[in-house]
Amino acid sequence: MKNIESVYFNEIGFSSLNNLLQEKKYSKIFILADENTNRCCLPLFLPELATEIPIEVIEIEAGEEFKNIETCTQVWYALSELGADRKSLIINLGGGVVTDLGGFVASTYMRGVDFVNVPTTLLAMVDASVGGKTGVDLGTLKNQIGVINNPLLVIINSRFLATLPAEQLRSGMAEMFKHGLIQSESYWNKMLNLSDLTLNDLDDLIYESVLIKNRVVKQDPTEKGLRKTLNFGHTLGHAIESYCLQNAERQTLLHGEAIAIGMVLAVFLSVEKLDFPEEKCVEIKDILGQYFEKQYFTENEIEQIISLMKFDKKNSHGNINFVLLEDIAKPKLDCLIENELIYRAFNYYM
Ligand code: NAD
Ligand code: ZN
Repeated sequence: MKNIESVYFNEIGFSSLNNLLQEKKYSKIFILADENTNRCCLPLFLPELATEIPIEVIEIEAGEEFKNIETCTQVWYALSELGADRKSLIINLGGGVVTDLGGFVASTYMRGVDFVNVPTTLLAMVDASVGGKTGVDLGTLKNQIGVINNPLLVIINSRFLATLPAEQLRSGMAEMFKHGLIQSESYWNKMLNLSDLTLNDLDDLIYESVLIKNRVVKQDPTEKGLRKTLNFGHTLGHAIESYCLQNAERQTLLHGEAIAIGMVLAVFLSVEKLDFPEEKCVEIKDILGQYFEKQYFTENEIEQIISLMKFDKKNSHGNINFVLLEDIAKPKLDCLIENELIYRAFNYYM
């Protein structure tokens, strides 16, 4: 399989990394993993490294609640104590939490050292590890602190997915569905038959998803326009995710689970505002409903979710800007939506 710029797939990924290690003469390699990827993925990854350069492993606790500046401080100290210098390489081996946090740590340690992403969740493969956004949460505010900085390489290998829990796999699929909806009807149609997939088909779908994300971020690296379309389903999705995280009585939702709800809501808003075809809206709701368990929200909760949208970084001048669709693969930016319509969207979803 081919590469997409600095994203390499399958075995070519490991050989590209080994070539880089030969070329660059790093002083030390630091592999950042969380407790799960240390256990499940490191044993698959280490044998692929052909190098004499000393390797140290730094482990962080797993989970979004550890994607914060305190964990960064621990990793900065660990790097310092283990003798990391400006010629060190950091390899982020994990899901989006590790690649986001590790990319930020690498970008700031000694004003920046080289880093490579080896995503081990489907979500990190198709989304988080590509595009250069790195960072951490500030309390319950997602990704509030960070920088844009690209890894030297991204190595995608679906072998790592063998140990990934099913709900995490589905969470990643939400972003793949999103890529189809915003950019490619043919990709969306391929995703409709996901249930009878073989691993080979999955490899192809991952590749195409990365291709879509990469094309978007390349055309608009600083998020002036096109890149904002990747935020489809995220305006409400992020607010739902934060709301569930903040409320002990609610079960926390995975990123993709929240985004799947956000996409159904956004498609309903698209029907109302932009004449998005109604039959496609029904199809989207049905398909996502097959993968993601229905969640229910009271009127009071919807009100709180709406107020959380104010914190979305994508807002400007106090307006909440939605990405909606005129049709599949025809996104429209900066759509203003009145609250009353958001309540109706939730009613439609539930
Ligand atoms: P995650 O990193 O928390 O991983 C999910 C869980 O799976 C964790 O418990 C992890 O330890 C475990 N895990 C990872 N790989 C495994 C494997 N191969 N086998 C067994 N267990 C494994 O979550 P995620 O869904 O990968 O990423 C979510 C994060 O990504 C969020 O913080 C989100 O903000 C971020 N994100 C960033 C971007 C970006 O552009 N930078 C885009 C989308 C999402
Ligand atoms: Zn997302």
